[in-house]
Amino acid sequence: MKILIVEDETKIGDYLCQGLTEAGFVAELTRNGLDGLQLAMTEPYALIILDVMLPDVDGWRILRALRDANKSVPVLFLTARDHVDDRVKGLELGADDYLIKPFAFAELLARVRTLLRRGSAPAAETTLKIADLVLDLMRRRVTRGGQRISLTAKEFALLELLLRRRGEVLPRSLIASQVWDMNFDSDTNVIDVAIRRLRAKIDDGFATKLIHTVRGMGYMLDAPDGA
Ligand code: CA
Repeated sequence: MKILIVEDETKIGDYLCQGLTEAGFVAELTRNGLDGLQLAMTEPYALIILDVMLPDVDGWRILRALRDANKSVPVLFLTARDHVDDRVKGLELGADDYLIKPFAFAELLARVRTLLRRGSAPAAETTLKIADLVLDLMRRRVTRGGQRISLTAKEFALLELLLRRRGEVLPRSLIASQVWDMNFDSDTNVIDVAIRRLRAKIDDGFATKLIHTVRGMGYMLDAPDGA
């Protein structure tokens, strides 16, 4: 899941970006409002973290532009402790939640997860399943046949993407942009390597293979009986 961070303060921006990446999200950081506005209006994000005080286009303008365009992407805004009125203003403009700086990363992460849960329909969906494989989004846990499987943050994100789009052939370029936030470069085999590792963890030793290679096209997660 891709999250946009619009924050001009270098330290906070980097801290958010790194923390969210470690938590398994794809985080994209921009340090100015103009780029933030452009990205927010054109790219599909699961969530936007928006600083209010930006040197060029401020957070309110970005938020207003999004809501005027009927874009319902959840927005969490960041505000300073002494700007009490901001909280009301932000919520009135259609933000979903706010945090007052300085904040603990654990709190931000909890808010982010709540907003993502709320934003994803059906609302109660906290596990993704195929055959005997279960991915628990809340607890960040994966099991197959009841056996716990330990995945890295990237492997988890990759499996989540495959599960959300099960039965679809996903080109490497799409996987690259959704999980690695990079443009696909045909010289790199990072995706093939990651798929191989994931496959070793979730398919090896099981009669039913879930990850399929579609030659010349990409990868697909599917179960034979559509289970
Ligand atoms: Ca700022």
